[in-house]
Amino acid sequence: MNVLDHINNAKDKTQFSFEILPPLKGQDIQSIFTSIDPLMEFNPPFIDVTYHREEYVYIEMENGLLKKQVVKKRPGTVGICAAIQNKYSVDAIPHILCGGFTKEDTENFLIDLGFLGIDNVMALRGDAVKSETYFKPEKKGHRYASELVTQINDMNHGKYLDDGLLNTTNTNFCIGVAGYPEKHLEAPSIDSDIHFLKKKINNGASYIVTQMFYDNKKFFEFVDKCRLAGINVPIIPGLKPISTKRQLNLIPHRFSVDLPDDLIMEVVKCKDNDAVRQVGVEWCIDQSKELLKYGVPILHYYSMGKSSNIYQVASEVF
Ligand code: FAD
Repeated sequence: MNVLDHINNAKDKTQFSFEILPPLKGQDIQSIFTSIDPLMEFNPPFIDVTYHREEYVYIEMENGLLKKQVVKKRPGTVGICAAIQNKYSVDAIPHILCGGFTKEDTENFLIDLGFLGIDNVMALRGDAVKSETYFKPEKKGHRYASELVTQINDMNHGKYLDDGLLNTTNTNFCIGVAGYPEKHLEAPSIDSDIHFLKKKINNGASYIVTQMFYDNKKFFEFVDKCRLAGINVPIIPGLKPISTKRQLNLIPHRFSVDLPDDLIMEVVKCKDNDAVRQVGVEWCIDQSKELLKYGVPILHYYSMGKSSNIYQVASEVF
């Protein structure tokens, strides 16, 4: 079933969903099942699976020169989605990127998803490759997520890259896109970011999942601005409980997200990361309860492969 149907069928009841990462190359799928199993108690209508593009690593050769090698540390997004749908009978949503994909790679990826009975996708641009400062699209790829949305939407109307194909099948993807309550780090302003977010919706996306945030006021303001701009699709808040002291620096730096002073002070006072984890869980419970009262359709949690803190939050909220 697609995400919009899940939202409509729930009749204003807020549902629980979460995102997982594929395991590092070489690990088996059991680690994924182990983190999903306890969360199934909260009846997620869907589970998102992230996509991780290639990275460059530099290997020193005998002559002292460096050899550049391309590695994919977390392959397996599509396989994991298929395994989740098969094992839990719950919809799995693969993330799909512009980065590292030509338009033809995208088309073939989507064909595989269609064959597997996967009818939701989260369409994203992706970040720059780690060793590069700016995002560079593939030569025959997409520069922005809005272009990727157009390609998926075209396939939903039977339009493939090769105009000469006859009797093509219409795919049936429900397309999600990313939104940023504190604006995307490259956007010159929140208004400009929302302008381009609207483009993704106009091009065929059906719902928005937000970047994590720690102050609900930012989310409420974002929703108001989106509605004013004429964006009327469901907006799903994304939440991630803090779990280590290091994240005080890492989260603002990596995701361009502010942390409220009260939360920072609580974390700074903690003796160890067990205490930080508890502060993070309590903060996330408070955020979730307020968002639930506000009437969000779904509360979506970033598990980052560790589900015990999400379990604690969900036990209090659902
Ligand atoms: P876009 O919507 O293309 O926007 C990128 C930037 O370009 C923004 O600043 C926007 O304002 C601007 N822009 C857009 N269109 C135009 C235009 N026409 N002209 C000028 N400027 C424009 N990354 C992964 O690698 N894998 C994942 O699985 C993944 N999952 C994510 C899930 C969620 C819910 C979120 C919020 C993010 C996720 N990301 C993931 C991170 C995401 O790939 C990055 O944040 C990326 O930098 C931007 O992606 P986007 O789809 O928002 O890009």
